[in-house]
Amino acid sequence: MRLVLLGPPGAGKGTQAELMSREFGIPKISTGDILREAVRNETDLGIRAKGYMDKGELVPDELILDLIEERISSGDAEEGFLLDGFPRTVAQAEGLEKMLEARGVFLDSVVSLDVSDATVVDRLSQRYVCGSCGRVYNLVSQAPAEQGACDDCGGRLEQRTDDEPETVVERLRVYDEQTQPLRGFYQSRSLLSSVDGNGSTEEVYARIRKAIGEESRP
Ligand code: AMP
Repeated sequence: MRLVLLGPPGAGKGTQAELMSREFGIPKISTGDILREAVRNETDLGIRAKGYMDKGELVPDELILDLIEERISSGDAEEGFLLDGFPRTVAQAEGLEKMLEARGVFLDSVVSLDVSDATVVDRLSQRYVCGSCGRVYNLVSQAPAEQGACDDCGGRLEQRTDDEPETVVERLRVYDEQTQPLRGFYQSRSLLSSVDGNGSTEEVYARIRKAIGEESRP
C-alpha cells in the first residue's frame, strides 16, 4: 500500500500514520521527522533546512525530493509506505509521480485530514515531543503518566520551536497557499478522500480505514 496523508500542521497526520504503519506493516516516512533529525545531527541537509523550518517556511523542493528519492529506495519501503508531510507543493507531487512511475508503481490513495484552524492552534499549543525518542504527547488528550517525562524512555518532553503561536500562524498560511492546491491535483487523479480529522484518535482512525477501504479487516 502506498499512501499520502495530507492535512495542515496539527491535523493528526503523524499520530494516524504511526497507527497505520503498525497495522499495515509499512514504514511511515515523515519529511518533518527526517529534517528534524538532520538538524539535530547538524548534517549538510540539516544546516540548509534549519532556517526555513524555524520560520515556518517550506524547505526547497530539490532538497526534499532528493531526500524522498533516497528514502523510498530503501528496502523497507519496497512493498509500500505512508507519506506524512510530503508532498507539500505541486512540484513535489509531480516529482513523486515521476519517481513512482520510474519504478512502475503508483499511489493507492491520498487521505486529506480536515480540521479547522482553531483546532490546529489548540492542538499545537498542547503538543509536547520527547527529546530522546520523538514520541508525541498532547497534554490534554494524551498526557504522559509523569509530568514532563516520556512514558517509553523517560526522556524530557519539550515543545517544538515551530509550534510557538507566531510560527503556527505562518505554517497555516504556507499550508493554504502551497499545499491546499494538492487537493485539486489528487482529485483530478481520483485519488483523494477527505476525512474529518476532528474527534478522538480512534474515531479518526476508523474514518481513515473506511476511506481507504480497509474497514472490514479485523
Ligand atoms: P512537519 O513536521 O511536517 O510539520 O514539518 C516541519 C517543518 O519541516 C515544516 O514547517 C517545513 O519547514 C519542513 N518540511 C517538512 N516537510 C516538508 C516538505 N515536504 N517540503 C518542504 N518543507 C518541509
